Amino acid sequence: MPSQQFAEEYDSHESLQDQYFDAYADLGVHRVMLADAPRMSFYRQILTCEAVVRDRVVVDVGSGTGVLSIWAGRGGARHVFSIEASSLSLAQAQVIDDNKLSDKITLLSETVEDIVAEGVASFIATHEALLRGCGVSLIVSEWMGFYLLHEGMLPSVIRARNFFAEVNAKLGILCPIEMVPERATIRVAPINCAAYYEERYRKFWGGVEGVDLSRYGKMEFETQLEATNPLIDTVPSACLLHEGATVAELELTSLPEDAVKSLCRVIHFNLCDSAAFRRHFGATQPASVAVDGFTVWFEVHFRAWSLNTSPCCPPTHWKQTTILLPATARAEQLVAFTSPEATLDVELRLLATDAALRCYSIEFELK
Ligand code: SAH
Repeated sequence: MPSQQFAEEYDSHESLQDQYFDAYADLGVHRVMLADAPRMSFYRQILTCEAVVRDRVVVDVGSGTGVLSIWAGRGGARHVFSIEASSLSLAQAQVIDDNKLSDKITLLSETVEDIVAEGVASFIATHEALLRGCGVSLIVSEWMGFYLLHEGMLPSVIRARNFFAEVNAKLGILCPIEMVPERATIRVAPINCAAYYEERYRKFWGGVEGVDLSRYGKMEFETQLEATNPLIDTVPSACLLHEGATVAELELTSLPEDAVKSLCRVIHFNLCDSAAFRRHFGATQPASVAVDGFTVWFEVHFRAWSLNTSPCCPPTHWKQTTILLPATARAEQLVAFTSPEATLDVELRLLATDAALRCYSIEFELK
């Protein structure tokens, strides 16, 4: 049966770690994140809520521009440790000062891994006055990448969680550590590309200042379809043939560090039973439906708050990650549905391709 797989690679001339932190020294990257309204709203609502942050010692893992630390500081945190390893932390020190929070926020300009290597005793000795009588009880981080796991920052967040649990234990403080977000879910749905073509290509090329250039639109679309990388773009909700099945649900307060090395799941999509499928086709059930590929997205949660990057929700900078079936399978409509009882059975595998878990190969196998 047709299957499709993709792996991504970083430039092999530089160490992965250097490339990673160099990328985050670029303010353009932070601008994109700061302009992402659903992302900002999720974290702002949580970190400016007194019931969440008041009087707690908060750790912001990978604080970037410092925006989350500043919200937590303003939200009434007892103290905030802001950890940032890229060179942006040089400016962040000034920004904390500009926002008059220098007494509330301690900036640690190093990697989580360096802090862990220095050890619990060293951390306590340096910061004892700030930790006396209360341990770290809230870890906040915006670690999510495309399809949740790309970039591989999650293991660093788990290392920070385990480290601060040890700090608390050493101080004799038994407070549990809450995580923001506390739960993350990866979802996948089969798609048909017609609405994507219509939205992204035909609308633009079909009438450029009154001239029909739709032939170029078809060519551009075909080039896009033949690309070997996953397509990172917003998929119109009209493409969905299913509202999405769960690939993995991660509980961040207990997740082990190596849990995201490989995630595999066999999914049975019952298309005709799905609301998205009925929305797609209305009352008339089609004789057959061509599946062009699969799109992957994620949701994260904390208490009643959630951030959902589904095609049905307002778009975010994560967009969706789409893997198309091989051209021959699409052209011949190998994956088509002719009976309402038929299920689409597929195995999805997300497999880390490097030791730091920064890159993954995404494989779909139709069963
Ligand atoms: N919290 C900011 C930035 C999120 S981007 C915001 O929400 O706008 C993630 C940031 O984490 C980047 O700035 C990156 O440099 C930092 N980071 C990633 N892994 C890290 C690690 N292991 N130690 C320290 N910082 C890290």
